[in-house]
Amino acid sequence: MDFALTEEQEFFRKMISDTVDRLVFPKAAEIDEKDEFPWELWREFSKLGYLGLRYPEEIGGMNADPVTAMIFYEEIARGSVGFAQSVIMNILMGTYFIYRFGSEEMKKRCLYPAMRGEKIGTMCFTEDQSGSDLAATRTTAVKEGNEWVINGTKMWITNGPIADMATVLATTDPSLGNKGLNFFLVEKGAPGFSAGQILDKLGCRGTITGELVLDNVRVPEENLLGAEVNKGVEYLGDILDEVRTMTGAMALGIARAAMAEGLEYARKRVAFGKTIGTYQLIRAKFADMATEMEASRLMVYYAAWRIKEKLPCRKEAGMAKMFATETCLKVVDEVTRIWGANAFAHEYAPQRHFRDARFLLYGGGTHEILRDFLGRMVIGKS
Ligand SMILES: Cc1cc2nc3c(=O)[nH]c(=O)nc-3n(C[C@H](O)[C@H](O)[C@H](O)COP(=O)(O)OP(=O)(O)OC[C@H]3O[C@@H](n4cnc5c(N)ncnc54)[C@H](O)[C@@H]3O)c2cc1C
Repeated sequence: MDFALTEEQEFFRKMISDTVDRLVFPKAAEIDEKDEFPWELWREFSKLGYLGLRYPEEIGGMNADPVTAMIFYEEIARGSVGFAQSVIMNILMGTYFIYRFGSEEMKKRCLYPAMRGEKIGTMCFTEDQSGSDLAATRTTAVKEGNEWVINGTKMWITNGPIADMATVLATTDPSLGNKGLNFFLVEKGAPGFSAGQILDKLGCRGTITGELVLDNVRVPEENLLGAEVNKGVEYLGDILDEVRTMTGAMALGIARAAMAEGLEYARKRVAFGKTIGTYQLIRAKFADMATEMEASRLMVYYAAWRIKEKLPCRKEAGMAKMFATETCLKVVDEVTRIWGANAFAHEYAPQRHFRDARFLLYGGGTHEILRDFLGRMVIGKS
């Protein structure tokens, strides 16, 4: 067994960690407070090449392996979750299908500019009446000649209102459930494609999240992002493990940021003549948080290693996402207790971590869905 990162991965950790400390971390409170997309930071960050993290060097990417990618996701979430969400959407879900199935023309128009930060991508599954249950998707795609005509409304779309292009989930026939689903590339400016309501969110503020409306949007037939029609769910399965493990890595990043705040406070806050970190009940909190974060780290990086080695990973990725997220929720909660009333003030970071961490519950599958799935895996088919 080898638990060590390679020299390159260690170097990458140091590089991205320094970048986050220098560029992102100092802006985190402002991003949260203003709840506006941080364009200046986006442009500055884009120049460093990270937006091509997962893609080959031949097309201008960094060719990072999945373990290295998790290091990136963890570190950027430690800096600012609002910013991290937008960046990760562009790097992973918002461009994956274009890279995998798009024509060279589409890549030139959408993928390569997204890797340079000149365009912003997103991915749209969720609708007003369907989230976990993709089979209930009501956005339709009907073939007319050599075009697809798409109709529907997507909700909760990260980067949606500012996106230059969207990978949109639509059904060729709602009665087919999961077997009728497909992904389509829809670009800004297409007649009938517009942004609707922008959501005022509890956390992850600074990422612009909202509604996208598709009203008789016509796209050429090659905008079907898939080798075959009605295989969308199958293709989605190919990045599901990475998306879930990525959410676990983000959880680890948020937990680290909160833990750092908790430690600083426990070392300096005095009560009854002693710093609170000297009291056993407070120490026990740190012991539990540190232990569970260590377990989360092992689970997240083990899942990433399995993805890298192309080993089955559905169970490990689901468990890593769920455990790291539950740990993060516990850490942000404990830190607000350690900070006492000061945790309740907008002036300090603990309340932001407390709010931001909640979003981890939804992306990559809710924990009810994951528990149900993992339970079936453990018990076996009945
Ligand atoms: C900040 C943020 C950003 C997001 N960004 C995007 C995005 O970019 N693109 C996108 O498509 N979506 C996005 N989403 C939406 C997210 O993917 C959905 O919230 C998620 O899929 C869950 O769907 P839902 O919220 O509709 O909940 P529902 O599926 O309606 O579930 C409601 C509740 O019922 C439970 N439940 C449902 N089915 C079962 C079952 N079978 N057994 C037990 N319990 C069940 C769920 O666990 C949950 O507790 C985002 C959400 C947030 C909060």
